[in-house]
Amino acid sequence: MENSCASSSKGSKGKRLWEKVKYQLVEYHSLPGYLRDNEYILDHYRSEWPLKQIFLSIFSIHNETLNVWTHLIGFFLFLSLTIYTAMKIPKVVERADLHKLQEELLTCLPSLPNMPDLHRLREELKTTLPSLSGWHVTELLYNCLPERFSHVNHTDVCVLRSMKEDLANIIAPLMLRPITRWPFFAFLGGAMFCLLASSTCHLLSCHSERMSYIMLRLDYAGIAALISTSFYPPVYYSFMCNPFFCNLYLGFITLLGISTVLVSLLPVFQTPEFRSIRASLFFGMGVSGVAPILHKLFMFWDQPEALHTTGYEILMGALYGMGALVYATRIPERWMPGKFDIAGHSHQLFHILVVAGAYAHYRAGLVYLKWRDLEGC
Ligand SMILES: [Zn+2]
Repeated sequence: MENSCASSSKGSKGKRLWEKVKYQLVEYHSLPGYLRDNEYILDHYRSEWPLKQIFLSIFSIHNETLNVWTHLIGFFLFLSLTIYTAMKIPKVVERADLHKLQEELLTCLPSLPNMPDLHRLREELKTTLPSLSGWHVTELLYNCLPERFSHVNHTDVCVLRSMKEDLANIIAPLMLRPITRWPFFAFLGGAMFCLLASSTCHLLSCHSERMSYIMLRLDYAGIAALISTSFYPPVYYSFMCNPFFCNLYLGFITLLGISTVLVSLLPVFQTPEFRSIRASLFFGMGVSGVAPILHKLFMFWDQPEALHTTGYEILMGALYGMGALVYATRIPERWMPGKFDIAGHSHQLFHILVVAGAYAHYRAGLVYLKWRDLEGC
């Protein structure tokens, strides 16, 4: 009994020691071929670990830790922005619409001869247009036409009815849904997919050749999704009144995105020699966004929102461009191989630049939404 206990404890001790040795970080030269990607990162590689150890390695230090976390934090940032946008933006629209309503009231109501009972009007409006209840119509009317509301006790059923009809007519078009949000949420979805796919790829790729193959493709698909969906808000909101160009640009970028994913499925695309081609394909996809942006500037050169959004788009282009350059050139680790294994190597800089570029694009998207909510088509 004692013996078996002793031997089993000895066995587990040995097993633990073996696992400790087995799951140690290794150097570049001892990696299998498919994991050799960057010869300037010399050490701290995980190599062919089981999935359990790989999942736990998210909390330990190796040369992919910051690659995983930069995009995981980016994912949570965009998740929060999506929730924030979904909750916050419609209120901004409501205020914009209220402003419109106020203007309409000022132009339409002074023709009415007598003062209605405002509280009754408000109650009736509430029952006919329930969504108006939060709109403080009474206060709005007081603010609009103060001199006309000095005799609030006066009641005239006829005037009340006609005013109610007038108001309903004014409000009806404003009760339409605000400018559609799907292009903006498509972009946020594309960004979240890209960041989560990238983070997962960096965490799991070292498991096996097959896993690495699947994960790299997922990563490329994510980048293509981010770039394609980034076109949706600027193209949709710039050309929403011009369906021909809207569909032309959206169709073009969607096709380009799908072809990029398909091309990146080819096995030859994965080899390190294809690094520059890979980078330039994605870079070219981004650069094709110049056409709709110039077109937008040409159409709306006198509108401040067109310049404001273009400013953000130039910033985004600069951040993505720098990211692609750093990715392709492997700066700074090529200058001091082995010094940036854990922190500061090109891929981490690339990740941070991607999140920053996507955030600049989010800010541009907010300007587009505000612009179109106020201006309509
Ligand atoms: Zn990456």
